[in-house]
Amino acid sequence: MELVGHYRNGNYTVRLYDDGTKVRETDGDSFIPEFPESMDLKITDRCDMGCPFCHENSTPTGDHGDILDLPFLETLHPYTEIAIGGGNPLSHPDLVPFLEKLKSLNLIPNITVNQKHFLENLPLLHDLTDRKLIYGLGVSYVTNGREEALRKAMQEFPNAVLHVIAGIVDPDDLQSLAGHVLKLLVLGYKPFRRGSTLYNILGGTINSYVDALKDVLPEILRDHWFKAVSFDNLAIRQLDVKSLMTDEQWERFYMGDDGQYTMYIDAVRGEYAASSTSTTRYPLEPDIRTMFQTVRSSSEKPSTTGRRQQ
Ligand code: SF4
Repeated sequence: MELVGHYRNGNYTVRLYDDGTKVRETDGDSFIPEFPESMDLKITDRCDMGCPFCHENSTPTGDHGDILDLPFLETLHPYTEIAIGGGNPLSHPDLVPFLEKLKSLNLIPNITVNQKHFLENLPLLHDLTDRKLIYGLGVSYVTNGREEALRKAMQEFPNAVLHVIAGIVDPDDLQSLAGHVLKLLVLGYKPFRRGSTLYNILGGTINSYVDALKDVLPEILRDHWFKAVSFDNLAIRQLDVKSLMTDEQWERFYMGDDGQYTMYIDAVRGEYAASSTSTTRYPLEPDIRTMFQTVRSSSEKPSTTGRRQQ
């Protein structure tokens, strides 16, 4: 793997590699950042998928964010990872100039698209990848019987990661995608906005899918169904991922609570917060460090104490 960049953040250094690996090293006993290492950035509320669990409440007529005029963009530290999402980010008319701007600032954009939009836009996504306008490519899985086409298309993108939601994905479908070639990110179920409405109606079914995934998780990891498996913090809690690791592995791999090294920005509403499900939100400000310290001081303290993490 090749080094993409490295930088100092507070009392530690970060090295980023082209396969998505991140290594932090500190001289002290903890990692105390001055600015976010990464952020989730919602650029649009528009999406034609109508998923009943959508925690962003995206709709086919949703608004786009004014992404070419974000007040804090120039204050981001080079190599900050920007996870661009929506809505359907490919629907934003300013997406390409925005990515060009991020590249000119030496930022690391990743993008997440729904599986349907992914398969419909392969030439565009190849172009964005080839021009290094995006690094990571998240593809949100939807069961629709097109698993073979999905697997084939994803293998064309070395940095593609399949996203699935605990409580929505059926482990049997996951098994049909297994085969050591894809990378997997498991997201927790977000009972927020439409996700809350659906949970009130189908909470029992959602919980049973979470339990089914939890049961099969040791097998997924042991038998290497996927090339790599990662989890967001919500999935770590919902699936009790910590119980599958030794204390040493946990210290090494856990990247910190939401809001400690990461933050969320909603460019449509002009708000920032610790995560996309935070109810405490603040209006955007011109300086990223100010926003980050607000988020960091209002969220939980980090539990990590190791000298090196990856
Ligand atoms: S594809 Fe994503 S953004 Fe679109 S409706 Fe579904 S969950 Fe929401």
